[in-house]
Amino acid sequence: MFVTHLLFMMPSEFKIIQQLANSQSIRRDEVVLGIGDDAAVLNIPEDHELVVSTDTLNAGVHFPDNTFARDIGYKSLAVNLSDLAAMGADPIAVNLSLSLPDPDSHWIQDFTDGFFSLARIYNVQLMGGDTTRGPLSISVTIFGMVPKGQAMRRSTATAGDSIFVTGTLGDAGAALLGLIGELKLNSKQQQFFSERLNCPQPRVAISKALREVASSCIDISDGLLADLAHILDQSKCGAVLYEDQLPISNTFSDIFDLAGGWQLPLNAGDDYELCFTVAESNMQQLETIQSSFYVPFSCIGMVESRAGLTMQRTDGSMHTIDPHGYDHFKK
Ligand code: ADP
Ligand code: MG
Repeated sequence: MFVTHLLFMMPSEFKIIQQLANSQSIRRDEVVLGIGDDAAVLNIPEDHELVVSTDTLNAGVHFPDNTFARDIGYKSLAVNLSDLAAMGADPIAVNLSLSLPDPDSHWIQDFTDGFFSLARIYNVQLMGGDTTRGPLSISVTIFGMVPKGQAMRRSTATAGDSIFVTGTLGDAGAALLGLIGELKLNSKQQQFFSERLNCPQPRVAISKALREVASSCIDISDGLLADLAHILDQSKCGAVLYEDQLPISNTFSDIFDLAGGWQLPLNAGDDYELCFTVAESNMQQLETIQSSFYVPFSCIGMVESRAGLTMQRTDGSMHTIDPHGYDHFKK
């Protein structure tokens, strides 16, 4: 093991790190020391707290094996930005841990292009990482900051709060069904859904505005129900959801007969929208925030003191629902 590692380390690991380092132009004041030493050094303003999160993408598990390198690069950063957005944090820098089966400079360049296309938008500096040979896997650790005490949590929703979700639900799930041939899509539909699957827009700007008004927040990576259940469990509450308020894209409603079930919008993962709760007293302020974003916020339900999740159907009937999203250890 040791010998193979040394052999691999010689030219190509160094070249890959150099290729990554040379591809970025972002320099943040907070990054005192970046790529090149044994560790990076970050300086956080005194009145802020450091917010840290890690997310890993494994080939064949988190993206199909034939996904373009550019999309993998983009998404590996997007999912991490989405986790910071769930906390209301401002992203600063990332560490990138790459496990590559067969380093190829074209693949790395495409990956790097996708990664930095998003890093530039959010002014996130790559400040370190690790590069090894192994099955394709990308792990990003992201560092951000929030004003002291203002990080949004999962555990702080209260009965009577309204439940909101940004954007639309189920599009990424529809893209996957299209890719595996279980759903017949024309090229325009496949393009729309694939864009939602491969290039999610992390809700960073919205989340910073929500810090002022939301009582709790989570990002939807494992499906609305599974992620909302985390808020409800940690806040020791239940909820009612309104079927007729669940936000669906036009492309989605053109294809699916929702009378047949809400499986995809409720349970499919990879939407990377925010689900958050707002107390009645903050609703007016929320309206002002909403008016400055083109992404819709839909009020999909209400937090209740009684445990459990109920769906109020369009016909007025009430149905108990079992929140289970994607479980990595379920076959
Ligand atoms: P060490 O052997 O001390 O762990 P490495 O040779 O792994 O150091 O890394 C050298 C430098 O390159 C470090 O600053 C490290 O953070 C950085 N680095 C390694 N891999 C990556 C990567 N994939 N992305 C960004 N920086 C990296
Ligand atoms: Mg190392």
